[in-house]
Amino acid sequence: MKKALIIGAGGVGAVVAHKCARVPEVFGEIMLASRTKARCDAVAARLPRPVRTAWVDADDARELVPLIKNFAPDIVINVALPYQDLHIMDACLECGTDYLDTANYESPEEAVFAYGPQWAYRERFREKGLTAVLGSGFDPGVTNVFCAHALKHHFDEIRELDILDCNAGDHGLPFATNFNPEINIREVTARGRFWDRGEWQETDPLSWSMTFDFPGGIGKKKCYLLYHEELESLVQNIKGLKRARFWMTFSDSYLNHLKVLENIGMTRIDAVDFEGRKIVPLRFLKSLLPDPASLGPLTRGKTCIGCLLKGINKEGKEQRCFIYNICDHQECLREVESQAVSYTTGVPAMIGAKLVLEGLWKKPGVWNPEELDPDPFMRDLNKYGLPWMERFDPAG
Ligand code: NDP
Repeated sequence: MKKALIIGAGGVGAVVAHKCARVPEVFGEIMLASRTKARCDAVAARLPRPVRTAWVDADDARELVPLIKNFAPDIVINVALPYQDLHIMDACLECGTDYLDTANYESPEEAVFAYGPQWAYRERFREKGLTAVLGSGFDPGVTNVFCAHALKHHFDEIRELDILDCNAGDHGLPFATNFNPEINIREVTARGRFWDRGEWQETDPLSWSMTFDFPGGIGKKKCYLLYHEELESLVQNIKGLKRARFWMTFSDSYLNHLKVLENIGMTRIDAVDFEGRKIVPLRFLKSLLPDPASLGPLTRGKTCIGCLLKGINKEGKEQRCFIYNICDHQECLREVESQAVSYTTGVPAMIGAKLVLEGLWKKPGVWNPEELDPDPFMRDLNKYGLPWMERFDPAG
């Protein structure tokens, strides 16, 4: 009987709780803890079996450590915000508990996306015989595993990687983000960056675009180049990678609203004076925007996220391969009352945690998903709701 503590009860946390609750043979006992306990209780009330709930401020180690010690989980699944990553890793080290998250640490004061602060924990986790898996959502997460799978089974060398993230779903609202608005807007307004022949190249935010013809009836969509955190670990771990880029689709309505919000200063992350007190405009904006967990019933359409890889295959020939998943917003709603972006993040978090608990991904240290065996993860994607497809072409 293994125990899991899930921290964060937002859109993603609700999916993780649903999926863990349906795998009782691995997740014997579950606790869902977050800053607003009422949200945990609301999620728990909709689950197929009882789970415990608790209040915790994960920014405060004095709160985290007693909670972890009392419940004594085998793993902590962190699906709160990137700001909490280091606090939760510290608490896991103190309590002797394995750790998994879906987003790299970010300081609230600076929108920097880098694994350095978490990779600095490698030795401490190794010494204590504890496992930390970083970025086990979809992107990062499944995209990293797709690359490891391709290298293990299809390629001798991967030379080019384009990660393509398309949300072709429509919620009918003028402006809403499908995961935490503050984290989403910090990411999308940052400068673009990609790997090219051994160096990082920078671009102005959303200044590069291309059109890609997505499968599954989605069709041609304009994609914008962004920096995304998995590029940092993939260029280190997938040897021979000469170019690595990340692309995401956005609706015109999203981009137009974002531009206006930026122009009037509403996306600023520094504190400004407002009627005698300090406020952070982006945090104020977040409080006005729709909660991503509420978008499920509104969203129709599909997501397609995949890795387009080019390299030399096991027969020594140039080859191109697109490995991808297609997920339908309404099917996710029927299954776990959520939209597909929370679903595609929450399912891989459950799978990563399951593999650690089963011993298949239990390996002392701090790891990005491409450093672990892709086979059981790829098998579980098919089993637990995110089936994947592969399309091969000669490289052109
Ligand atoms: P939400 O804003 O919907 O939920 C975040 C949850 O964390 C809320 O329950 C919130 O509590 C809780 N929380 C925030 N601060 C604290 C704190 N100090 N202590 C305890 N709980 C806290 O976000 P999402 O569910 O959309 O996203 C969750 C995570 O998933 C984010 O880190 C995001 O970056 C990541 N993500 C990863 C993706 C991937 O593919 N790898 C894709 C999408 C998201 P409260 O209700 O009180 O605000």
